[in-house]
Amino acid sequence: MKSNGTNHNLVVFSDFDGTISTQDVGNRLFHHFSQGKSEETVGKWQRNEIDSRQCLIGEAASMRPFTADELFEFIDSFEIDTSFHEFLSLIRRNDIPLYLLSDGLDLYINRILANNNINGIPVFANKAIVTPDGFKFEFPYFEHSCGSCANCKGYHIKTLCPEGHTSIYIGDGKSDLCALPEADIIFAKDYLANYCHEKKIEFLPFDNFSGITKLLTEQFPNLI
Ligand SMILES: [Mg+2]
Ligand SMILES: [Zn+2]
Repeated sequence: MKSNGTNHNLVVFSDFDGTISTQDVGNRLFHHFSQGKSEETVGKWQRNEIDSRQCLIGEAASMRPFTADELFEFIDSFEIDTSFHEFLSLIRRNDIPLYLLSDGLDLYINRILANNNINGIPVFANKAIVTPDGFKFEFPYFEHSCGSCANCKGYHIKTLCPEGHTSIYIGDGKSDLCALPEADIIFAKDYLANYCHEKKIEFLPFDNFSGITKLLTEQFPNLI
């Protein structure tokens, strides 16, 4: 782990689904409103038969008709890791930039952050709006895709982490794979931890943000 004695060279990137939120909200949302039919599309994505843009479009196509009220009521049932607040305080006290990178949808990420009084974190995600015909998507970063992602995390780390800074990545799943080669320090759990372990990629395991806060303050003793 690199540490050059100042705190101001760290840049943190975090996944949302299953990392900040305790569950994979995107997956649960499509599953719920399609009565499980979305899982066939998800299986194709897991087997790399389709990219994540095709996955989102396929999952959305399997949804029954829904109203915005129903959708947001469902989204409001999801919780975040409560220790994320403590982590965010550490990051903000030390003026460390934090970016949220997701191959999910801005619509539920922004809603859940707001529900938890969390403001001001730049979110880079795919965009969805609710129309009478279901979701309408926009993929603002698709042109920078690696071919597998709709919103490739590797691209954002490359463009947002200044030369000479140490990038920290926090994630849990398959949509985080493109972040791995770009990150100097990786915090991983679940699928991502197993993947790093198998591929012999160095990573720090975590269960929740309280563990990350503890490890960062140990590794970077200058943090206040
Ligand atoms: Mg995730
Ligand atoms: Zn990618």
